[in-house]
Amino acid sequence: MGLQIQHLLGLENVSKEDISLILDTADSFYEILQREIKVVPTLRGKTVVNLFYENSTRTRISFELAEKRLSAAALNFSASTSSVKKGESLRDTIRNIEAMKIDMVVVRHSSAGVPWFLTQCTDAVIVNAGDGLHEHPTQALLDMMTIRRKMRKLQGLKVAIIGDIFHSRVARSNAWGMTTMGMDVVLCGPPTLLPQHTESFGVPVTDNLNEALEGADVIMLLRMQLERQASGTFPSIREYRDRYGLDLEKLSLIKKDAIIMHPGPINRGIELASDVADSSRSVILEQVTCGVAIRMAVLYLLGGGENA
Ligand code: ASP
Repeated sequence: MGLQIQHLLGLENVSKEDISLILDTADSFYEILQREIKVVPTLRGKTVVNLFYENSTRTRISFELAEKRLSAAALNFSASTSSVKKGESLRDTIRNIEAMKIDMVVVRHSSAGVPWFLTQCTDAVIVNAGDGLHEHPTQALLDMMTIRRKMRKLQGLKVAIIGDIFHSRVARSNAWGMTTMGMDVVLCGPPTLLPQHTESFGVPVTDNLNEALEGADVIMLLRMQLERQASGTFPSIREYRDRYGLDLEKLSLIKKDAIIMHPGPINRGIELASDVADSSRSVILEQVTCGVAIRMAVLYLLGGGENA
């Protein structure tokens, strides 16, 4: 049985069965990635365009690697060097790319809803690689994969997601995906960086760090999104670091076997002290490794790999 979804636009409405299938498939790809020859022929003949309108390091490289390891033809489009600079619309860009006969589009954009919009103007399979403040589904999937590999389960684990919740598409995708998988998520940050209508998350939200950390099995720090801040959203970086940044002192308050995660890029010394980021409790680089396997699984399952 394949996936119920045809595109990966977000995790808000993705079923437990679909998430489980992606995680299980990614586990198999993870094993392949340990081999000397890491390439499989599953998407041979398929063409994937990586349409990046916003900066990215991990996500872009990870998708490109995943495509190459599945033997798909991977093309990279970056808005800063394209005709977008000459004023070409998103719809025209995608219709022109589609006219070159492509099968899948991986898209990152600063506006929420762009991946959905693309499903309305092309027949290609669309994968969201981050849309504005909305969702970043492959990040949440790789986070769940990392946790499942470390803790051997997801159901019943408590996850504290801490930081700039308001601007975080990672927090949104994780809140929805993890809740679907039976995990207990709590979102925590300064009141000015918490969304106003928190009911839509369906999980508790608090500005009390100790409350969030208590009993947590997983602590996920979020990057302070300095490029997206309107003025006055937090008093000062120093105050933020003192109250919400995870350092060795606060680490002593958490469960002995709890793991530390961060989607990257880290603002070292702000949301996460360097010695904590590099400690044995941190699984941050394992998240990056799982990212390639998750993206292989998503592309394989959506790209018809099941029937290949
Ligand atoms: N890399 C993640 C994203 O693109 C997290 C971040 O930028 O802070 O949303």
